[in-house]
Formats: sequence, structure tokens, C-alpha cells
Amino acid sequence: MSEKSIILVVDDEIVSRYTVEALLSSEGYTLVFAETGEEAIEKAATLIPDLMLLDVMMPGMDGFEVCQRLRANPRLAELPVVMVTALDDRDSRLRGIEAGADDFMSKPFDRAELRARIRTITRLNRYRRLVETEEQLVYLANYDTLTGLPNRNLLMERMRQTLGRASRNRQGVNVLAIDLDGFQMINDSLGHEIGDKVLCEVASRLTQAAPIGATVARLSGDEFIIMEETNDPVKDISDNAQRLLDCISQPMMLNHHEVVITASVGISVYPSDGEEATILLKNANTALSRAKTQGKNTYQFYTAEMNAMALKRLILENQLRKVIERNELQLHYQPQIELTTGRIIGMEALLRWYHPERGYISPDQFITIAEETGLIIPIGEWVLRTACQQTKDWQNTGLTPIRVSVNVSSRQFQHPNLLHTIKQTLQDTQLNPHYLELELTESILMEENRTHKDKVISNINILNELQTMGVHIAIDDFGTGYSSLNYLKRLPLNTLKIDRSFIQDVCTNRDDAAITTAIIAMAHSLQLTVIAEGVENNEQLAFLQQKGCEICQGYFFSPPIPIPEMTQFLEKFNPPTFSLLTH
Ligand code: C2E
Ligand code: MG
Ligand code: MG
Repeated sequence: MSEKSIILVVDDEIVSRYTVEALLSSEGYTLVFAETGEEAIEKAATLIPDLMLLDVMMPGMDGFEVCQRLRANPRLAELPVVMVTALDDRDSRLRGIEAGADDFMSKPFDRAELRARIRTITRLNRYRRLVETEEQLVYLANYDTLTGLPNRNLLMERMRQTLGRASRNRQGVNVLAIDLDGFQMINDSLGHEIGDKVLCEVASRLTQAAPIGATVARLSGDEFIIMEETNDPVKDISDNAQRLLDCISQPMMLNHHEVVITASVGISVYPSDGEEATILLKNANTALSRAKTQGKNTYQFYTAEMNAMALKRLILENQLRKVIERNELQLHYQPQIELTTGRIIGMEALLRWYHPERGYISPDQFITIAEETGLIIPIGEWVLRTACQQTKDWQNTGLTPIRVSVNVSSRQFQHPNLLHTIKQTLQDTQLNPHYLELELTESILMEENRTHKDKVISNINILNELQTMGVHIAIDDFGTGYSSLNYLKRLPLNTLKIDRSFIQDVCTNRDDAAITTAIIAMAHSLQLTVIAEGVENNEQLAFLQQKGCEICQGYFFSPPIPIPEMTQFLEKFNPPTFSLLTH
């Protein structure tokens, strides 16, 4: 507080300037004078005074304009301005308020009044500066000055909050301890200046690569921590840890030096590896030392089970990359039966991975990995082509043509080439588009609805184009998402597939019965065909028949079956009819 307040006195008249100097001489302020508006702005910008005493009537730039310009400048917008107007000049005061003045005085000055006003305003301003300094101190206590990342202090605080929340929500938390490999060598050989730049670059790469909402902190030297909430630790780490390592190992150009550095990562997981921040950090560091001895540029979980799971997933991912060239994929087909006639009116193509050692692997175990790695694009194209070709082949042998349904995943649907691929496939296989149906989940259509508005239009456009071609659209697993009915109404759809979780207990659980009944009624009011999935017994079938559901699919009729069985099935029921044995 010993620092003197600076007051910038702006007045073109020398007498006025003297008067102010005389009146405030014993008050201990530093007085600075400006004779024109231009000079006032220039001095304000360089000195950042505590207060400006501003005369309105000046030749050239007057006080109003000075005030307006101050307010337009972010650095000076908050500078307290006392405007000096002629006595009782109401109009000038109104204009002054508009221009952004904080207070008014009139000439000739009253000594006591001038001192009192200036004292109040400078005191307020000093107080504000003190608060800002305090904020600055808080910042310094919580952030690392080199990289701007949270430091240990803030990390511990955030960990406490996050762990508290995770325990209430029964969520997991991943703690990744990251350490650069051989950073000391960079410091020793290229100097500390480059070393600091490497740290800043690593900080910004980690921040970009870390999932949204994660905390990236720097503890000391080349030690970083990433903390993220998670539902599935192994999956999230398998996705992210490798990406972090990859993004760090990209070459950096620093002061004309190309620097390549790698990192090692150790991971602990809440709650299995510890419930407190300090324990989780300690265990992440233990895992980190193991990653270092494993040969660096790699990651390790604290527990052996997690390492085994991550490894299994990694192996699966690598094998999945080769499924197409190794011919390990197959499609099985599951018939869909029209209840009024007993006819087979369609079939769903379901993907099977025939693993040389593990046998058949169900899509639930690999579709997500295929989605996350982008492999779903070539795999999805293979599925589409194979299903269309097979359906056409069946038609060519003289069997009554029926429609084939192909599942399309989120990433496939968003792929810019989707329409082109479908057109090309239909053309190449010569399948009439009328015999193709695409199954999309509610979430695929709703996701974009929630995030960006303009994407909704593009979803509708894609669906419209498919419909124009003659391709059918079904909503799969209906009832599990949160579709808005208003939104569904706007979409060009043909079929609604009730999720099998509702059908399972439809005869014993009143809620499931009510939901199923409502979905059927709703679909009909939207003029959509309804398919019930997962029909396994006579009771379910009878219930659905009674509620007016037109098509059923499930083990009651047939599980998904390979081509030879499906061929037999189609031949047996050609024209395909199924005898319905209800009641
Ligand atoms: P989905 O599209 O809902 O497929 C229906 C699933 O229910 C299939 O599981 C089918 O075998 C099973 N199912 C059929 N009838 C019954 C029944 O009566 N009882 C029971 N308990 N289950 C029945 P599957 O083949 O394991 O496929 C699982 C999911 O994987 C599919 O669910 C679909 O979302 C996805 N999927 C399958 N093939 C593909 C594909 O080619 N591409 C994409 N993107 N996803 C696929
Ligand atoms: Mg499906
Ligand atoms: Mg389904």
C-alpha cells in the first residue's frame, strides 16, 4: 500500500492544472498532466493511472471522446474517470454517463470535495488491484509457470473432487503417470532452453490428445499426469494410451533442431488400485517404472489382470486388421416371418468372425473395437457387398426374392462415402435396391440431433436419398435409446424393430408388455412396419400377434444360420411360408 496512487489530470487550461496541483499537493499522490485528449490517451496507456480527472471542454478531442476511446480499449476500460463539467450542466453529465464516466465534478473546485472524491475512488481502485494480485497468487499456487498446466497442488485438489464424484456415481478414474524417456539427455546435449520447449510442446500435445474433461498436470521436470473419469478403464486406456505415446513421439522442430522423444506411461485405476489420490499416484508411478524397464515408449497397468486384458484386446485388434484378407468373416442369416401369412418376408445378415484358434466370435465382442479403430469401414463394406451378392445369388437360383437387412454402425453412417458405396455395391451386384434394408440404431440418428443442428438436415438428406433409391430404412433396437417422437416423425423410415430386451419378459413383466404395446401402436400411427426381435416362444408370439405386430424374428423360428442352412430354409418354404402354431 506504500505505492503512491497516480492521478492523470487532463485539462487544456494551465490555471486549472495549477489549481488541481495546489489542492492535492499535500495528499501524497503522484500527479501527471496532459493538455490534450491525444496526450491523455497516450499517457493513460503507458502509465495506467489509478484515476483520470478529465476536463470536458477541450479544443480538438474533447472529454467525451477521450472517455469513449478509453472504454473501447480493453486495458483502459476499467480506468476510473471523474469528468469535470461546467456547473449544473445537466446535458453534459448525461453525455458523460453515456461516454462511460464514473463520477462528475464542476469548476471551480471545492478543495474538500475534490480531496474526498479522489480519495474514495483511488481507495476502491487500490482494493481492486489487491484482489487481482491475490488472484495472481492463487494462479501461481495452482499452475505451472512454464507450461501453464495445473501443478501438483491443483491436481491433488481436482483428484479429491473427482474421486468423490466417482464414488457417488460408481465410476472409475484412470490415473496416467507419464515420464519422458531420456529427457536428461536432451537437456544435457541441447541445453535447457530447448529442454523447456520440449516440455511445453509435450504439454500442448498431451492436452490435445487427452479426452475432453481430463486433467493434464505437470508435477515436476518431465513428469506429467493425466486423470480421467471412465466407465471402462481397459477400453479407454487401450484407446488413449497408445494415442498419447504416438502423439509424443512425432518429431518436433525446435530452434531448427529436429527433436524426437518418447514417453513411458504407468496407469492406476480407481477404485481397484486404490481409493485415495496419493495411493493412486504412487501405484501409477510403480507401473511407470515397470513400463520403463519394459523398454520405454510403452504403457503398463498397475495390476497384472488389467495388463492381461489390455493385451488380449490389443491382440484382438491386431487380428481384426487382417480378417478380410484372411477370409475369416462370414455372414449368417436370420429369417423374419410375417405373422398374418406365415411367409418369410426378409432376413437379417449378422456378422460372424471365425477365429482360427478361438472359433466363432460374436459381433458384440468385436464390433466396438472395429468402430473405434475405424476398421468398421472396410468390414462394413464387406458385409454390404457379401449380403447383396448372396441375396442376388439366391434370387438367381429361382427362389422367391426376399429383402436382406444389413446393420450399419454409427461410424459407417457418418462416413462421407456411405451413399456412394451403397450405390456402387447395388450396381455391381445387380441387386434391386428394393431388396435391401439398412438397420440403424436410434442413437445413430439422435446423436447428431443433440450436438449440431445442421447435421440433422444431413441425416435426413442421406435417408431421403436412400429412400429415393428404393432402399428401406429400419430403426434397430428400438426402445433402448431416447428418440424424440417429433424427430422420428420427420425421418423417412420404413420399419421399427422392437429391442429384444422388451420381448424377453413381455408375458411376465407388465412394464415390458405396456412398452411393447405402446411401441406397436406408435409405429402404426407413424405408418411404420413393426418387427419384434428375439421371439423365443409361443407365448411371446401369441402376445405380439394379438397386439398387431406384423413381423417376428427370433430363435422360435430360427437362429441366424450359415448359407447352406439358409438355402435349405428358403427352398423348404418356397414360396416361403411358415406354419404358425399359436393358441
Ligand atoms: P442386432 O442387430 O439387434 O441383431 C440381433 C441380435 O439378436 C443378433 O445377435 C441375433 O443373433 C440375436 N438374436 C436373434 N434372435 C434371438 C433370440 O430369439 N434370442 C436371443 N437371445 N437373441 C437373438 P448377434 O448376431 O450376436 O449380433 C449382435 C449385434 O451385433 C447386432 O444386434 C448388431 O447390432 C451387431 N452386428 C451384427 N452384425 C453386424 C454387422 O454386419 N455390422 C454391424 N455394424 N453390426 C453388426
Ligand atoms: Mg440388427
Ligand atoms: Mg436389434
